Amino acid sequence: MADGIERGEGDFRRAAGTFPSVSGPGAPERQIWVDGALVPWEQATVHVLSHSLQRGSLIFDYMSVHTTPRGAAVFRLREHVERFLRSAELVGLPLERGREELEAAILDTVRANPGAKSVKVSAYLPSIEVDVVPMDERVSVAIAAYDPKADVIDKSAGRPVAWRGAVRLFVEKQRRNRRNDILAPQAKVAANYTSPMAAKWAARRAGYDEIVLVDEDGFVAETPTANLFWVERGGVLRTPPAERVLLGVTRQSILEIAKHDGIDAAEARIRPEELARQAEVFLTGTTAGVLPVESIDGAPVGDGKPGPLGQRLGARLREIQAGGDPAFAHWLAPAEPQGRG
Ligand code: PMP
Repeated sequence: MADGIERGEGDFRRAAGTFPSVSGPGAPERQIWVDGALVPWEQATVHVLSHSLQRGSLIFDYMSVHTTPRGAAVFRLREHVERFLRSAELVGLPLERGREELEAAILDTVRANPGAKSVKVSAYLPSIEVDVVPMDERVSVAIAAYDPKADVIDKSAGRPVAWRGAVRLFVEKQRRNRRNDILAPQAKVAANYTSPMAAKWAARRAGYDEIVLVDEDGFVAETPTANLFWVERGGVLRTPPAERVLLGVTRQSILEIAKHDGIDAAEARIRPEELARQAEVFLTGTTAGVLPVESIDGAPVGDGKPGPLGQRLGARLREIQAGGDPAFAHWLAPAEPQGRG
């Protein structure tokens, strides 16, 4: 096969039917913040000819909301907003709103949407343009706080895929020089997801859950939406170097938790063919949490079961996100104003 995928015959085509409506009766009852005002979900739209849709210039960030003893709280809000600002800078979008304004708007949006589990903040050029450089440089900002499962997946007639306890990973074989020379992998810009989408879609059709992309030198980098870690046989935790991947907030959190807990962790490079020989492999991300990798190209990792270090770190992350470890309380930004005491 042209994309190098040989195994499996999984059929991931979705059943025809209704998908979450942009408008009408199926639309979630959510308020989306657009340029300073909360509007109903179905009104948060852009024109089909908008620059961001046509050129893939939208930048975004995605963070999680947790139920804690101090109420709903956003996990590592500051780091996500800083990454959002960096994406704008890398792409050259003249974003006028600053960090504090964005943080306040995100917390306002969470308050306006009870039960939200995630926040997606986007910046985009809504104008209709003829050239790649827009005549109208005004950047819009939209903030959606919602529950991906209740508001999107459950409203879809398709079979959700990859919501498994562990994933079957495929390592891409034939692409090199995927992105670095085009656009920094550190930019969360829509256009950066097109090439990974094509690769992952092919892997899905071949019966895998997820694909790991390689960097320009052929070393393991990350998946389309998660970072990757492995545990060497000696117990050392490793992850590909920062300059080759999106700087995942979960990746950074796992490295900090490991340091705090006295676990030996460091950045390193690894060839795809060495990955399945490691004691453990797992993925990290806002959606993935800490997600064990069960097999790579069909070969089991370890004994094919979630490994102990990944499980331990996943449990630590969930504990911290639930507000259960005072040492990491500063990683949670409560949406409700906090009283004294
Ligand atoms: N890599 C890429 C390319 C991603 O899109 C994501 C998801 N934002 C990640 C890694 C994981 O990042 P985070 O832990 O911040 O969700």
